[in-house]
Amino acid sequence: MSKNQNKTGSYSFFNCIEKNFDKAARFISIEKGLLEQIKACNSVYRMHFPVKIGKEIKVIEAYRVQHSHHKLPCKGGIRYSMKVNQDEIMTLAALMTYKCAIVDVPFGGAKGGIKIDPQTISSENIEKITRRYTSELIKKNFIGPGIDVPAPDYGTGEREMSWIFDTFLSLRSGDVDALACVTGKPVSQGGVRGRKEATGLGVFYGIRELCHVKEDMYSVGLDVGLVGKKIIIQGLGNVGYHAASFFHESGAIIIALAEREGAIYNEKGLNVSKVFLHLKNNGSILNFPEAKNIENTEKALELECDILIPAALENVIHKNNANRIKAKIIGEAANGPITPEADEILDKKGVIIVPDIYLNAGGVTVSYFEWLKNLSHVRYGRMEKKFRENVNAEFLKVIETVCKKTISIKEKKMILRGPREIDLVRSGLEDTMINGFHKICDLKKSLKIENMRTAAFVLSINKIIDSYEKLGIFP
Ligand code: GLU
Repeated sequence: MSKNQNKTGSYSFFNCIEKNFDKAARFISIEKGLLEQIKACNSVYRMHFPVKIGKEIKVIEAYRVQHSHHKLPCKGGIRYSMKVNQDEIMTLAALMTYKCAIVDVPFGGAKGGIKIDPQTISSENIEKITRRYTSELIKKNFIGPGIDVPAPDYGTGEREMSWIFDTFLSLRSGDVDALACVTGKPVSQGGVRGRKEATGLGVFYGIRELCHVKEDMYSVGLDVGLVGKKIIIQGLGNVGYHAASFFHESGAIIIALAEREGAIYNEKGLNVSKVFLHLKNNGSILNFPEAKNIENTEKALELECDILIPAALENVIHKNNANRIKAKIIGEAANGPITPEADEILDKKGVIIVPDIYLNAGGVTVSYFEWLKNLSHVRYGRMEKKFRENVNAEFLKVIETVCKKTISIKEKKMILRGPREIDLVRSGLEDTMINGFHKICDLKKSLKIENMRTAAFVLSINKIIDSYEKLGIFP
């Protein structure tokens, strides 16, 4: 049995992350005990509560884990899935800590999960479960704008976040900052424009940045730039769906899309919006008229392509299929899609892996923007939009006078425009992803670190050490 396997023979996901952490620790000279503190999960809340479903009382198993309190509040999504267990939620909470540090989001990592299959439960019952879960969190002080702020994750979305907010508000009425107790809310309920597509867009920005690095592209035999690159996306939830759309719009070729029921393939490229329409109308991506079906969805990961984007659940690339993966670049849109054994195999093959703790940080980055918006009680751009437009108009008038030229109405419209919330959020996200990418690459180069994942962990751990030091905890 491998070191990463527990007694039941299945993977201990937390050990996998510890392994990645230990690889990075080789590049950090600090007392071992301090590294152990960073690695450990600070608080694990495992709960069982009864919910009446139909005529029966069902006992629901759920979790909230706060991995690190080096910055507060803690932050991380809540997932609904039958695979939810303590090891998984602890690991995902740890990933949140490292992720937030990389993109300079001042939160400790957390994660929550409820062991249910939302696809087989009515929305009334999902609402009951969500509200009860929230009140359990309130009872134990595991939720609040300055304590712990949940967000969407696998199997949850805006609807669940609204219920969480509403439950929090009804039990904490009068809290003027209550909106900031959860992010990923609908815009009409205090959400921020651009949150929904943020993780997918962040994945796009990160991969686009990599594709512009000559050295890296040549090392895997590819040309510079994203246009024309052949991409496979596994998982068409919120992250995969938006990532696929942004890649498609930018001129990359989506050759395969994989879902639970199977995958579809067209070497010449799939029209992503048409596939989504087909999925909406038929409840499945299979039998899309312009593509070939692949019954065994796992086989889609092994197709010839330039970039593979796993965007669903953990451990989908493991020691048994890693050797058959033909992608030259893997972008981890999901959390933990590659096991450590597979990581080593792919590393040896020279595959560039863009790690989850950086690549899917777009979601929490925009969650941070939403949290700030909620605390400031004002929409982004509200104060400066018109002012900027007025200044731009004055500026343009001067240019027209000096140059004795009139600018066309179309050009004027473009130049005069003041920033809207969506513009500010997207540019903030783009800047964050570009900066994060270069910080990881610079560190990788300067310390001669073998791959991006280890470099990302080193960057992250160093930042956490720094904040502990500033707190005065680590001498
Ligand atoms: N669930 C997302 C993640 O894994 C977002 C977390 C958040 O926005 O707090 O990064």
